Amino acid sequence: MPTFEEARSTILGNVKPVGVERVAILQALGRVTAEDLLAPRDMPACDNSAMDGYAVRAADCHAVPLKLRVTGHINAGGEIPGPVTPGCAIRIMTGAPLPSGCDAVVPVEDTDGGRETVTVTAPVTPRQHIRFTGEDVGKGERVIPAGTLIRPPEISMLASFGMAEVPVFRPPLVAILSTGDELVDVGEPVGEGKIVNSNAFSLAAAVMESGAVPRIVGIARDNRESLRKKIAEGLEADCLITSAGVSAGDSDLVREVLAELGVDQLFWKVAIKPGAPLAFGLHGEKPVFALPGNPVSTLVTFEEFVRPALLKMMGHRRVIKQYLRAVLQDGIRKKQGKVNFLRVRLVPSEGRYLAYSAGDQHTGILKTMLMADGLAVLPADRTIFSPGEEVDVHLLSGGWEMTGG
Ligand code: AMP
Ligand code: MG
Repeated sequence: MPTFEEARSTILGNVKPVGVERVAILQALGRVTAEDLLAPRDMPACDNSAMDGYAVRAADCHAVPLKLRVTGHINAGGEIPGPVTPGCAIRIMTGAPLPSGCDAVVPVEDTDGGRETVTVTAPVTPRQHIRFTGEDVGKGERVIPAGTLIRPPEISMLASFGMAEVPVFRPPLVAILSTGDELVDVGEPVGEGKIVNSNAFSLAAAVMESGAVPRIVGIARDNRESLRKKIAEGLEADCLITSAGVSAGDSDLVREVLAELGVDQLFWKVAIKPGAPLAFGLHGEKPVFALPGNPVSTLVTFEEFVRPALLKMMGHRRVIKQYLRAVLQDGIRKKQGKVNFLRVRLVPSEGRYLAYSAGDQHTGILKTMLMADGLAVLPADRTIFSPGEEVDVHLLSGGWEMTGG
């Protein structure tokens, strides 16, 4: 049985981006660039003023205060007037291209603000308050390398260079298949002994949240024929996630039918709790996750195994959410041999986080999943945890941890 880390690295070692597409600039938000993006020109494209003020020759301004004749005016986007001649200044606004002949801008705050003549009241150094051509980005510079997550600053850079389309990794289509004779769809009457197929929705939501595209393929019943039909349908997507039917029960046929349909199983069962009966395989290059059916196990295994894989398939390099150290507030006992994921609430206090058990940790209790800010990852080899000791908490929302792959 692989350990938690072994299982995760097997998965991450076997998935890769599914393809590239060009999307409109705003659609690229949250996506990852598939190519290096080179600056098509210098930015700024010409020397320009960083302040509202006066373009001057620094050599004219040795002893302040002094008076200069104002020979012109230039706005951002305006025509460039003639050169700045000795003893003269041109009134200039922020962002306006610099006229020739000058080598400094005096901010209006360092003058009397005059229109015909201007009195400079503060010392002037050559090159002050000028934005020079290419000082931000030089033409040809690799301004956004391939593999970059596109956030608003990247959008700003792309837009500054007029790049209306961006080559990004395509989000995978993820088929979601629920299995079980007891399942009814949301909205249908729930007869005795039946339960609602909530996993289809929790998984679809988790897939969407990760940036991929879910396709709910419905419910397969616990018989080979039904499973064959639905799994075959699911295998048309870029990735298949099944839930339930993967333990050791009499009607747990999912792995068997996956194998029959050509899915090569890389592991079954991981030394974790909850979520142990998890299987992972490949259909050609397509990853197939057979998750346990218990709604808590389904979500926990999605978080720990599927989300990182989907992120890698979308070209992300940071695929594992951030872990943070927190001070456990409850005494915990667990069995030796498995990593336990403890649902915890995090409370910041005096520069650190306190981790409180979110409540009943039984696999059948979904409510504590809603209360949890994170999963405390309790090591496999330990059994007793005391209040006051530090544990690693894997955030369910929030920051990211850098990993390879
Ligand atoms: P199984 O692995 O098939 O024994 O399922 C484990 C538990 O998860 C059982 O209590 C199932 O009723 C429950 N379960 C299975 N599939 C779903 C589903 N799609 N939505 C909600 N609960 C489920
Ligand atoms: Mg079942």
